[in-house]
Amino acid sequence: MENSSKFGFVALIGRPNVGKSTLMNHLIGQKVSITSRRPQTTRNRVLGIDTQGEYQAVFVDTPGLHKEEKRAINRLMNRAAESALGDVELILLVVDATLWTDDDEMVFSKIENTKVPVVLVINKIDKLHDKATLLPLIERLSKRVSFKAIVPVSALRSTNLDDLKKLVFESLPEGPHCFSEDSITDRSSRFMAAELIREKLMRQMGDELPYSATVEIEEFKEEENLLRISAVILVERAGQKKMVIGAGGSRIKRIGTDARIDMEKLFDSKVFLNLFVKVKAGWADDERALKSLGYAD
Ligand code: GDP
Ligand code: MG
Repeated sequence: MENSSKFGFVALIGRPNVGKSTLMNHLIGQKVSITSRRPQTTRNRVLGIDTQGEYQAVFVDTPGLHKEEKRAINRLMNRAAESALGDVELILLVVDATLWTDDDEMVFSKIENTKVPVVLVINKIDKLHDKATLLPLIERLSKRVSFKAIVPVSALRSTNLDDLKKLVFESLPEGPHCFSEDSITDRSSRFMAAELIREKLMRQMGDELPYSATVEIEEFKEEENLLRISAVILVERAGQKKMVIGAGGSRIKRIGTDARIDMEKLFDSKVFLNLFVKVKAGWADDERALKSLGYAD
């Protein structure tokens, strides 16, 4: 029997914080896109690759589309999200079962006239007591877009993700795979290392830290049985530096330990991580500086 390969890109679209990155990670079974309860955790387009036999699906995780375009970093994130809409076989439109906002409305208006098939993914159903409360939402949205399917899921608990994955694989057209069988992302190990540190930073600092804080990798060296990584956390003000370091260095130590544990899992190697904090004022308002840090695709 002939074994013809299937390949395609699948975009994850939705406002910040609906769970797009969590969904991608749980669909492919690896953490390639960082997540936190803070909106705008994802800043760049990230690919998550899932290969199973003849099928290869490439999920495109995007920074959520949002209305606020005042700062340069927000404009760049919106552009990255919009460019993901071209050349995909399928759009997974992700919404939160428990919260509809103006930003959802804006995302909806952007995909209303697309020719690409759209699957409505209603996420966070683990937070619902009564599934029947979804019916008015489904009815309202179905009037505006003719969905290929509507799939309620819990990305966090992997509920219904098998059904969703089946649907995704079945919509892939014939074509050669673009990535090797064992690839999970298009991003470099350096980039992934920086992102894992940023995830711990966002998770442990909560609202104390402006989302403009970023991470630069200064050294990434493979030694015998060891990865040696030096990284700098860039913040905008001296007060923020103090907060990141924490009392007696306790917080930065925690951030470093948690990031290292994730890195060892991802890179399948022992990791030695050296972590610093530096103040670099005003960079989140400067598009050129952002591009030099890799925040523009
Ligand atoms: P994104 O901005 O759309 O990429 O959202 P994230 O994937 O970063 O998730 C935002 C927050 O929602 C995080 O705190 C996640 O843990 C949480 N979250 C994501 N999926 C679920 C889910 O299925 N159930 C619940 N209860 N929380 C979820
Ligand atoms: Mg995200």
